[in-house]
Amino acid sequence: MEVKSLMTALEAKHPGENEYLQAVREVLESIEEVYNQHPEFEKAKIVERIVEPDRIFTFRVTWVDDKGEVQTNLGYRVQFNSAIGPYKGGLRFHKAVTPSMLKFLGFEQTFKNALTTLPMGGGKGGSDFDPVGKSDGEIMRFCQAFMQELWQNIGPDTDVPAGDVGVGGREIGYLFGMYTKLAREYNVGVLTGKGATWGGSILRPEATGFGALYFTEHVLKTAGKDIKGCTVALSGFGNVAWGAALKATELGAKVVAISGPDGVCEIPGGITSEMIDYMLEMRASNRNKVEDMATKYPEAAKFTPGKKAWSVKCDIALPCAFQNELNGDDAKELIANGTWCCCEVSNMGCTPEAIETFQSNGILFAPGKAVNAGGVSVSGLEMTQNAMHISWSGAEVDEKLHYIMESIHSACVKYGKKADGTIDYVKGANIAGFMKVAQAMLEQGIV
Ligand code: GLU
Repeated sequence: MEVKSLMTALEAKHPGENEYLQAVREVLESIEEVYNQHPEFEKAKIVERIVEPDRIFTFRVTWVDDKGEVQTNLGYRVQFNSAIGPYKGGLRFHKAVTPSMLKFLGFEQTFKNALTTLPMGGGKGGSDFDPVGKSDGEIMRFCQAFMQELWQNIGPDTDVPAGDVGVGGREIGYLFGMYTKLAREYNVGVLTGKGATWGGSILRPEATGFGALYFTEHVLKTAGKDIKGCTVALSGFGNVAWGAALKATELGAKVVAISGPDGVCEIPGGITSEMIDYMLEMRASNRNKVEDMATKYPEAAKFTPGKKAWSVKCDIALPCAFQNELNGDDAKELIANGTWCCCEVSNMGCTPEAIETFQSNGILFAPGKAVNAGGVSVSGLEMTQNAMHISWSGAEVDEKLHYIMESIHSACVKYGKKADGTIDYVKGANIAGFMKVAQAMLEQGIV
């Protein structure tokens, strides 16, 4: 396998699919050496097969807004790879959603899910529906219309969607309600991220952020450092950022910045538990404005429009929002301000230039597919509980989440340890995830 020629062929086949091509290139560059030591992979054309989704469903979603006007959006489900389990991955509702974005996310999900130790394949879906400014009724009608198209292609042993950007507990509720009506059965394991009283797992809402901080703790410990007393800047104020802020604060770190598409809120004294609770209200309001935090807590938070969280001095940067939200210049600014660790919580949150800048400056860096895998891991645990018709306590789920994040960290160390003893987490995560899926594909023949 040669990355350059493979990428040239893929670029010709999928012109303009930039996020997808970026995600594929990163994985191929990481695995090239190991892959070429396995002639059996080459013979079965594993790499040519693994970069293409099994299938993609595209559908029209028509719904009626509060003014009575008919609205049309596009809906998608990318069933990427089911070599190690049913397709599993979230739904993203965001105005910028394209097939390229969902293909990159489905591709990443395949390797992330392989890292979790649980039997889950990779999938992703969503819509270009923009939740910003929508009423609760509009959100409900959109979710119902979306599920009307999707329901026949999903199931607990087929494909299990969940939340992602723009899709949280409320949306999963509306999607599940419509699924149940259409399927005429209580197929509880068809979606994850459900409410705790109707099949949801305790700790699922917190899981991505909590898991990210457990992973960060391992990264720091391996480098001989402690999170206590560190300052943390994080981007976003949605579900993932909320869980990360909560756990970082609990572990004794000080969250000094959160951000949104409108700018950054600096919180020099560190975010308080009241402010963390308020993040949930901010997300539920659908206003998508981080400025609301400074309006509500003017003494504690200072809002600067148009600035990113990466302009705030911090020890640890945690991108928690969107792909490519931290670029090469941001990385340089962070380093100049003394940042020594960046754990990517969003999927592909850092551009290749940012990763290169961090790595060449000796900054501790870990990629999203390892750091944020706690979310889908607890989704996997939700599937287990659903299949067993039981529900575990928060303590049981938390213990399992700790174990999974530790296992992921160990896998990264196993495949990413360099001659000087430091860890290349990007390489480690990509090789560990890839080897598991590739081996399963090999054993299952040419299908
Ligand atoms: N959207 C989340 C992710 O990127 C969670 C997926 C899930 O729970 O299935 O991993």
